[in-house]
Amino acid sequence: MCLASVPPPPNRITRRGVLAGAAVLAGSAAALSAAGPAAAARPAGRERATAPAGDLVIEGGTLLDPATGEVTEDAVVVIRSGKVRSAGPRGKQDVPAGVPRLDAHGRWVLPGLVDAHIHLSTVAEAREALTKGATSARSGSTTFYQDIAVRELARRLPDRAPRLRAAGIFVTPDLGDSVLADPELAALAGLRDGVRSAPALRRVVEVNLARGADVVKTRVNERAGLPGQDPLAQVYSFEQLAEVVAAARRGGKSVLCHGYSEKGCHDAVRAGIRSLEHGVFVGERTLHEMRRRKTYFTPTLAAIAGLAESADPVLAERGRTYLPVLRQAVRAAHELGVPLAAGTDSSGGEITPIGREVELMRAAGLPALDALRTATTGAARLLGLTGTAGRLAPGYAGDAVVVSGDPLEDMSLLSRPLHVVRAGRLG
Ligand SMILES: [Zn+2]
Repeated sequence: MCLASVPPPPNRITRRGVLAGAAVLAGSAAALSAAGPAAAARPAGRERATAPAGDLVIEGGTLLDPATGEVTEDAVVVIRSGKVRSAGPRGKQDVPAGVPRLDAHGRWVLPGLVDAHIHLSTVAEAREALTKGATSARSGSTTFYQDIAVRELARRLPDRAPRLRAAGIFVTPDLGDSVLADPELAALAGLRDGVRSAPALRRVVEVNLARGADVVKTRVNERAGLPGQDPLAQVYSFEQLAEVVAAARRGGKSVLCHGYSEKGCHDAVRAGIRSLEHGVFVGERTLHEMRRRKTYFTPTLAAIAGLAESADPVLAERGRTYLPVLRQAVRAAHELGVPLAAGTDSSGGEITPIGREVELMRAAGLPALDALRTATTGAARLLGLTGTAGRLAPGYAGDAVVVSGDPLEDMSLLSRPLHVVRAGRLG
């Protein structure tokens, strides 16, 4: 298919028109990739034509189900049209002929991992997150709605990006360059106090929802990653956060909230957020409230550990001070039964493998299987992907990682996947 067969753009450029044009183009791109080098795992010759994209058999590996902890040696996973048809011991299922095979003898096979907090702003970042093991992800916001475009890229070309829940732009007092992300936001640039009033907060959430955001990202505290900011300074009150949550809920969406101070975390949780991000100084009373409300905790241990290695002395000191406190909070949360989700908080071209966060969850004191669940079944539930991500069972997405040994024995293997399969395609 060549571009000449793509219809010209509509006379009047509407958002719907643009999306329709993109769909036509993506169809041609998918056709190109199906016939091109992305089909490397396909059998040669006549069979090639009978193996559409998204068909794959992973055979001979040791299959680990994070939901049950069950381990199956010499397993066969059959993926057809991007979804798991069957998964289990060899000999107990129909293995179709003419479908590409991935030999996993001597390897371990797991469902693709979920990164519940990542900032994907470029095609390269999206691809790198995938090749490092994240087959599904939730955005922690991007400056110009790039995450919404990444989500569409992932839908049309699954081997290019993780399946993504997009957050749009950050609901924060100072929108910075994001006032340029949509013409509807320009008026907010002139507000003397920034985005703080109820109408301003509602406006940002509503523009996000109109742009197709799946979740809303806000904050209660300043940032830890900037030396000039005080991460314990509170930027939004309980009432302001409740306004954000209410606006998101009117659109059927949930809120993830960046927070550090105990008071800030407590206000955010009471305001009805779905997940608390970072949460270094979250206290016991808030953790009890989180358990009661089933609020998730996404500690982003990898990001805080990264601060400790910063060249900036203020950030390095902050990281060294915060990390043991956060580890203790993670342990306390797990003991109380607060649901935990793994998120790397990767951004700006530096993509941390999601397996590294799982490793840090284990190091914080979680049993190995529970640590793995924070990036599989647990995170899938947070993203509304139960039945799609987190397991390799019939009907689930054909997303898998193949690692060189038992990840429950050595969690660092998760950071170095040998193969990543996304919707039955080798990523
Ligand atoms: Zn973030």
